[in-house]
Amino acid sequence: MNIHEYQAKKLLAKFGVTVPRGGVAYTSPEAVTIAKELGGPVWVVKSQIHAGGRGAGHFADNLDGKGGVRVVRSVDDVKDSVREMLGHVLVTKQTGLVGKEVKRVYIEEGCEIARELYLSMLVDRASSRVTIMASTEGGTEIEEVAEATPEKILKLSVDPATGMLPFHARRLAFSLGLKGKQIGTATKFMLSLYDAFIKLDASMMEINPLVVTNEDDILALDAKMNFDDNALFRHKDIEELRDEDEEDPAELEAARHELNYIKLDGNIGCMVNGAGLAMSTMDIIKLYGGEPANFLDVGGGATKERVATAFKIILSDANVEGILVNIFGGIMRCDVIAEGVVTAVREVSLNVPLVVRLEGTNVSLGKKILDASGLDIVSADDLADAAEKIVRAVKET
Ligand code: GDP
Ligand code: MN
Repeated sequence: MNIHEYQAKKLLAKFGVTVPRGGVAYTSPEAVTIAKELGGPVWVVKSQIHAGGRGAGHFADNLDGKGGVRVVRSVDDVKDSVREMLGHVLVTKQTGLVGKEVKRVYIEEGCEIARELYLSMLVDRASSRVTIMASTEGGTEIEEVAEATPEKILKLSVDPATGMLPFHARRLAFSLGLKGKQIGTATKFMLSLYDAFIKLDASMMEINPLVVTNEDDILALDAKMNFDDNALFRHKDIEELRDEDEEDPAELEAARHELNYIKLDGNIGCMVNGAGLAMSTMDIIKLYGGEPANFLDVGGGATKERVATAFKIILSDANVEGILVNIFGGIMRCDVIAEGVVTAVREVSLNVPLVVRLEGTNVSLGKKILDASGLDIVSADDLADAAEKIVRAVKET
């Protein structure tokens, strides 16, 4: 789960991570009140969307090049900027061409930047540890730094038994070229960030830029946070920060029905039971030259209604040009799946090819239900046969 920058900063501040003062606004009068409270003389107006690259982005209806992060020098300019942001669509490298409508803005006190650095922490699956990354190239996307000058990214892996220790932080501070008082301040900053990372069950935290000010202070000027969904049950306060406007509507609907659905870019919708089988189904679709439109695990004990819902979610994706149902009935019974598919197909007018491969418990009953339905369903015998049939069907339409 992702949260907004202003929410991340508020959480981090509780752990002692230094952030600029600021307040969130949903309207321009609210923004003006906040700006007056902050006092100036410099303010930063920041669009709050779940995507980076806001500073270098542009508004879809305003092509004068002004981005989603603006440094301004009067309350009137705060007001004008907020009006140009709220209700307008911001397009950045990370939003795709459709962009994201800005519904909240964050008003912050401005600061004098001496240096822009980069700092992030993430759960590294390869090493099963938290990896800390730092770079002197703050303000630029880290993917670009990795591409052009990989030697400028410092990586450090933290042993979970000891956690992050002061020497780790000092080593990073020296490598970043920090000096004098900055080293102690940066050490405290990094240890606080790590403490927040662990206690909040984060999977990723990115401070880009981490700035050194003209007064030698260290501040998180931007903050991006990602949480482990499986640990959210013990962080009700974080769960409440969820902004459904920023999430994929189909994924939200799926979550409400306890379906594991992830939208992808291809055109073959998949309905599968079990995460492993869902992964292999996606693999074999690719092997036969197709592209999966989604990952969907209907789970073990799905009801006929849940199968029907899953089917509708798959079809709600306009890119879907064919559907492959691949079920191995163990706990899940093939007749239940068949009934769900038939119900769903009757409810929504299905105008794309449908290939169904059933195997396991009550398979013959399931096939009988499909045959008796009179619907246009192609049945397949095994995984390879199913993948080949759906890829061919989609190419022919
Ligand atoms: P992003 O573009 O979505 O990553 O948004 P950021 O929060 O990182 O802001 C983009 C850029 O705006 C930063 O890299 C800074 O260069 C600049 N910026 C943000 N806050 C301030 C500030 O208080 N003062 C100044 N001078 N620049 C700022
Ligand atoms: Mn940033």
